[in-house]
Amino acid sequence: MVDRPRRPPGETDDREIDYLICKQCNSPCYVFEMDKGNIGEAQCLVCGNEDVTMFELGEEVGSDDESRPR
Ligand SMILES: [Zn+2]
Repeated sequence: MVDRPRRPPGETDDREIDYLICKQCNSPCYVFEMDKGNIGEAQCLVCGNEDVTMFELGEEVGSDDESRPR
């Protein structure tokens, strides 16, 4: 049987990221690659931003504790 190893809750290193937010134009960006929990590469198709420091993780927008499953 091949299954994913269970991760302890609270472990955020290897979570899946749905999208990034481009800080330059505040648009969701789906063209990116994650590298060990950090943004490896990203490209904003709206404004052409390719600077990974100018993106943030889409999941982390706003407060962290709304609709969090128990
Ligand atoms: Zn942009």
